[in-house]
Formats: sequence, structure tokens, C-alpha cells
Amino acid sequence: MQLQQVIQYLETIAPPSYQESYDNSGLIVGDPQQEVTGILTCLDSTEAILEEAIQKGCNVVVAHHPIVFRGLKRLTGKNYVERVVIKAIREQIAIYAIHTNLDNVYHQGVNARIAEQLGLINTRILAPKGEQKKLVTYVSAEHSDALRRELVAIGAGQLPGDAGHRSHAGLGVAYQDGAGQAEVKMEFHFAAPLERAILRTLRHHHPDPQMPHEIIRIDNINSEVGSGLIGELSEPEYEKPFLQFVKKVMKAGVVRHTRLRSRKINKVALCGGAGGFLLSRAKAAGADIFITADYKYHEFFDADGEILIADIGHYESEQYTVELLSSIISAKFSTFAVYSTEVNTNPVKYI
Ligand SMILES: [Zn+2]
Repeated sequence: MQLQQVIQYLETIAPPSYQESYDNSGLIVGDPQQEVTGILTCLDSTEAILEEAIQKGCNVVVAHHPIVFRGLKRLTGKNYVERVVIKAIREQIAIYAIHTNLDNVYHQGVNARIAEQLGLINTRILAPKGEQKKLVTYVSAEHSDALRRELVAIGAGQLPGDAGHRSHAGLGVAYQDGAGQAEVKMEFHFAAPLERAILRTLRHHHPDPQMPHEIIRIDNINSEVGSGLIGELSEPEYEKPFLQFVKKVMKAGVVRHTRLRSRKINKVALCGGAGGFLLSRAKAAGADIFITADYKYHEFFDADGEILIADIGHYESEQYTVELLSSIISAKFSTFAVYSTEVNTNPVKYI
């Protein structure tokens, strides 16, 4: 099994186009054509993780956080990022990162996994990226299969969480100068960020240079793509016991939170990692508590008595992503071993 086949599969779950603009998800080190001997999943691809990969006979590391984030200008081994890249190349270990694209999908995403751990029900994306569009195009029957293949190859008709494709085609007859010609009307749903790629594909592969088509915007508030998640407790719970429950389930060394409001918690908003940018969305959605990480002193004031903010730690909030990734991969592939790391890469310690 080649690495690229694994990557292709992961990208049907978390398409690269869903990553945030600042991110660097994807294959960071390695050859897509290399044969996979084993995969190790982790949050951070540190030197200790590479050592573990070697010991377990894995030549691929699938990490949540991209080890190279801002770009590298030198490779001298003067910091841990450079040392990891050098070691990975030397030991022929590929590093693949699946970061904000995995944060931003509902099905099998980072936040759904946290919600599952907390037992939330009626969950949905907190801040949907939202936009889906529909392409309608008309093409002669003989060329329709080829065009459909090209469009599907770039992700048209595919929305995260879908088992199959959302596309359909119908055969009709177009008349020109009185002569009938069989023509197919094809429709594909797609995530809005794909629009440019769709138009490029039409330009290159539509047999008619005028490439007759229309693109329709679809308003869909139940989007499957976006940041954070909101859900409900099956039974409302007082704040303090709920915070204690969260601390236990998320194995948090400490939970930093704003003043208790002496009311029961029903709606829970959450975001794995640094989710502070979603506070106003959590409030607007009527959440009683917002669980996330990386909160700074002044940002806690923004709770403003309207919501309870709980910072459970970045690593703690995302720890279940390691198992999530190994279960996603092992459910699909059986020709190599898949391991969740046993190394705790949390750089933050508590006494
Ligand atoms: Zn993170």
C-alpha cells in the first residue's frame, strides 16, 4: 500500500481545502509513493515520536499539528523543528499533518470526538463555514462520463461525511438548427471553496468551449464544515459537578474557568485547541459553557457574566484525536499496523 492511497482516503474525510489559510496541513516530509510499513498517530510529531515510530516499525507519522508551520530557511538542527525534519528524512519516515481541515469537519472531526467523550447530544457545528454550491452543466452524452470523472476527481459531488457522491445526471435532447443531439444535464453539490477548481476543470475538460453551466448558491445552515461544536447534555447539570466531570473525562491537570453563575448547564459549546475566537458564537448560540483552551488573562473577562468559560488545556482538549486518527486509518486499511502513540507530547506540566 502506497502512502498516497492513505492520504487520498484521509482527504475524503478532511479535504485539504477546509484548512485555514494560516495552516500547513498535508504531507510535510516524505515520498507519496513510498510503501507503508506502519503508521503512528500523534498530536505533535516530535523527536520522541520519531523514535517510537522506528521502534514500532512505522515509516509514516500522521500528526494533528504540522511540525513545519511557518516555513524553514535552514536545516542545521539548531531547534527541534529542524531536528525532526532532518531525522525524518534520514530515517525515511514520512510526516503527514491533518490539522484545521480535521478541526473543521463534523463527521469524524476533532470536536465531535470531544463531544462524544462528554456525552453531548443534538450536536452541530458552532460556526459553519457554511456555503455549499451546486454546479449545473450540460454536455453531449458521449463526453459526459469523461467530464464527470474529472469533476469528481477534484471533489465535486462530495461533501465531508457523505458516503457517496451528491451528483446526478439526466439525459435530454438538445435541438440546434432543427437537429436533435443527446445532451446530459449534470448536477454536483460542492463546498464553496472548490469553486475555482471546478471552473478550471470545466475550462480544461468541457468539450464545448462555451462550457454551458450555472453555479447556484445553496443556503444550508446544517453545514458539515466549520469551527467548534455545540450540543446539549442529556440532563442539565450544576456548573461545579459538570466542571469536575469535564476535568476527569478530559484528564485535565487543571481547569481554569470564569466565575460560576449558579445555574444549571444545558447547552455546551466547545472547540479543541485555541478556540477563543468562537466565544461570541458560543454566546449567540445560547451556550451555558464554552470549553476550549489557550485562554489568556484578559480574554477571560469577555465571559462578562453571560457564559462560563472553561480552559482545559490544549493537549488535553485534543488528546482523543490521536485515537480518532488511528481508528479512521485502521478501519480502512489492513495491510499494515496502525498505532496510537504512547508518548505524551504535552509540553505543559502541572505541579
Ligand atoms: Zn491543536
